[in-house]
Amino acid sequence: MNYKNAVALVLSACTMLPLYANANITEAPARPKNMIIMVGDGMGPAYTSAYRYFQDNPSTEEIESTVFDRLLVGMASTYPARVSGYVTDSAASATALATGNKSYNGAIGVDVNKQPLTSIMEMAKLRGMSTGVAVTSQVNHATPGAFLAHNESRKNYEAIAEGILESDADVILGGGQKYFSEELLAKFNAKGYQHITELSQLESIDKPKVLGLFADVQMPWVLNSPDANTLSKLTSKALALLSQNEKGFVLLVEGSLIDWAGHNNDVATAMAELNGFANAIEVVEQYVRQHKDTLMVVTADHNTGGLSVGANGTYRWDTQLLKGISATPASIASKAVATDDWQAAVKQQLGFEVSADELQKLSDARDQDADALEIALKKLIDVRSYTGWTTGGHTGVDVQVFAAGPAADLFKGNQDNTHIAEKMMSLLPKLN
Ligand SMILES: [Zn+2]
Repeated sequence: MNYKNAVALVLSACTMLPLYANANITEAPARPKNMIIMVGDGMGPAYTSAYRYFQDNPSTEEIESTVFDRLLVGMASTYPARVSGYVTDSAASATALATGNKSYNGAIGVDVNKQPLTSIMEMAKLRGMSTGVAVTSQVNHATPGAFLAHNESRKNYEAIAEGILESDADVILGGGQKYFSEELLAKFNAKGYQHITELSQLESIDKPKVLGLFADVQMPWVLNSPDANTLSKLTSKALALLSQNEKGFVLLVEGSLIDWAGHNNDVATAMAELNGFANAIEVVEQYVRQHKDTLMVVTADHNTGGLSVGANGTYRWDTQLLKGISATPASIASKAVATDDWQAAVKQQLGFEVSADELQKLSDARDQDADALEIALKKLIDVRSYTGWTTGGHTGVDVQVFAAGPAADLFKGNQDNTHIAEKMMSLLPKLN
């Protein structure tokens, strides 16, 4: 049975239910009014496994399950269009998730012939629904870009920002100030957008439309932030604003920087970003529990870095060591090269004992520059925590699919990433 038949079967089964069942059984509708798709960029299965152990309280016998364990329903393949082989980039994968079509690596909402593809966001708009994005990268980065815009290349940031204006999205929250010129901001203004640049201004926003650009490019790393709740705050605000539309909404939430930490082979930073994303998932999970008309689907666009939980032949992964690290290796390194009295600060930020031999290696690297020291710090962390990596790029393994709410069962089992979009699209109200 293909997914379309499955959709029809599930929907007909549910709509038939009241004929022979007690009417008050059906508290949740067969079709969701609202849909939230959440993407952990680069969040392959090793990341969610790692996160479980990272979160585990070692003083209790059981290993506590995470939000990922709770919501898991299936798997998805992520390969791009034939022309790009088996290993996708974020643009092709986001195009698949947003439009239900395979395309080439680098494509933003366009097909292999560079022609625009209809996205779920555009379909929602046609139905009078509201749309929004809340991300930790710049809002015109590959994933939100493919949901809101059309461009032949993910690198055309200015054009993608223009495309976001044309999308009429009601809530746009993330980073990316440097890509929005005064001229473009004036156009957003003319369309009735409130433009804000500080997280503290979020509180004063009580209705759409809003363009919140809180950083020049990416949002600050969770590991360098006072808490892991920035994406949660953006997500809560997006939900509050979008739910004002009686016709419903489609919201994209992305934990964008999990991927960036993966590219950097930086496990401490990756775990912190994953924690920030998990917190946002819990916000949405809570919303879905309270709003029986809302479906949430969480997945990854691909796997990044080939993260390995355990490495170098040792049957061990040291989460206690990772938990003690209080800043990103890049931040530790840039501060360390700027002061003579660097050793105490580095030891304090790493949070674990460093041997004389290890300290010498760090010192040699510091004599070169901050980049060399950052690399040396990441290597030290990997060796000491038994973390492995196979690439600075992406890998082609399948990713997990998590869902809750009406029609969550549609996403059970094995599927392709294009099917996730097609299933979600099939749940939109029919056009007259
Ligand atoms: Zn990537």
